[in-house]
Amino acid sequence: PFDMLIVGGGPAGAAAAVYAARKGIRTGIAAERFGGQVNDTMTIENYVSVLETDGPKFAAALEAHVKEYEVEIMNLQRAEALIPAATPGGLVEIKLANGGALKARTVILSTGARWRHVGVPGEQEYKNKGVAYCPHCDGPLFKGKRVAVIGGGNSGVEAAIDLAGIVAHVTLVEFGDALRADAVLVNKLKSLPNVTIHVNAQTTEFTGAAGKLNGLSYTDRVSGEARHVELEGVFVQIGLVPNTEWLKGVVELSKQGEIIVDAKGQTSLPGVFAAGDATTVPFKQIIIATGDGAKAALGAFDYMMRLPAL
Ligand code: FAD
Repeated sequence: PFDMLIVGGGPAGAAAAVYAARKGIRTGIAAERFGGQVNDTMTIENYVSVLETDGPKFAAALEAHVKEYEVEIMNLQRAEALIPAATPGGLVEIKLANGGALKARTVILSTGARWRHVGVPGEQEYKNKGVAYCPHCDGPLFKGKRVAVIGGGNSGVEAAIDLAGIVAHVTLVEFGDALRADAVLVNKLKSLPNVTIHVNAQTTEFTGAAGKLNGLSYTDRVSGEARHVELEGVFVQIGLVPNTEWLKGVVELSKQGEIIVDAKGQTSLPGVFAAGDATTVPFKQIIIATGDGAKAALGAFDYMMRLPAL
């Protein structure tokens, strides 16, 4: 069995693997797609000490760093179930989609999250060519330009307020008849001079030309009229979904499906730790996920030190 088995090979999992391996313990990492969300990222400009890089390069660097150590990498492996240890301090089992099973004294869950898509024509085509999902990451790329934010919940309204300070103009598009964000955020948004809000607006298409986004179409759900807004960027903010469906009922999850962790990354199950976007740790960013992975690995090592030998 492994001393530490990491499930998920994004920034959080890679950092956990490096920290675990440096303790000289038997470490494994199983990932559906090594690199995680970073693979889908264009430019990364906010990983402090790396002025600028791109997603595939960053993902390759994560893998190269893990390979510097004795870590068993099991890429293209999806975990389907977690079976808690039968006795305190016993082995935790991870069942894989390929029928195999892995056992470990400690497990780190770092399966990340995925942005919910609007699912309209143009979204895939103009992804990273005007269609964005992360204001902290891509907001500065639209400095002085016109953007829209899709979604009037807390994350959408926060994004709109944030972007209004950077871009020329923000159009907020909400499907429902009112913004669902906290009143204090809605009031703040309404006080900004360069923001337009459309409620009852169903986004129908992201339009573009010459490989670049140039606007969005929506239907006014009250009048039935079709409208078009010209702009250079769209931020989709209709939810970040943690990849934790397979853990439901086994590990304590928040209402949003995030794995609930304490300050050391410990979950509700002894010996099972978690890190990164899949958890309740706020602000989903690479630098936060890597730090969190390191923390969970040290937390798990700390826990392991106190266990009797098998
Ligand atoms: P993830 O990167 O999501 O990795 C999860 C890992 O778990 C993957 O290996 C996945 O294959 C695996 N996995 C999932 N389910 C299972 C399973 N059941 N079994 C086995 N493996 C599984 N952040 C920044 O700081 N700067 C940026 O510029 C930036 N730009 C971004 C641009 C885009 C388009 C996107 C989508 C995100 C961006 N982010 C950016 C956010 C950043 O990528 C994430 O915060 C970060 O990748 C989270 O790391 P993670 O390791 O927690 O999860």
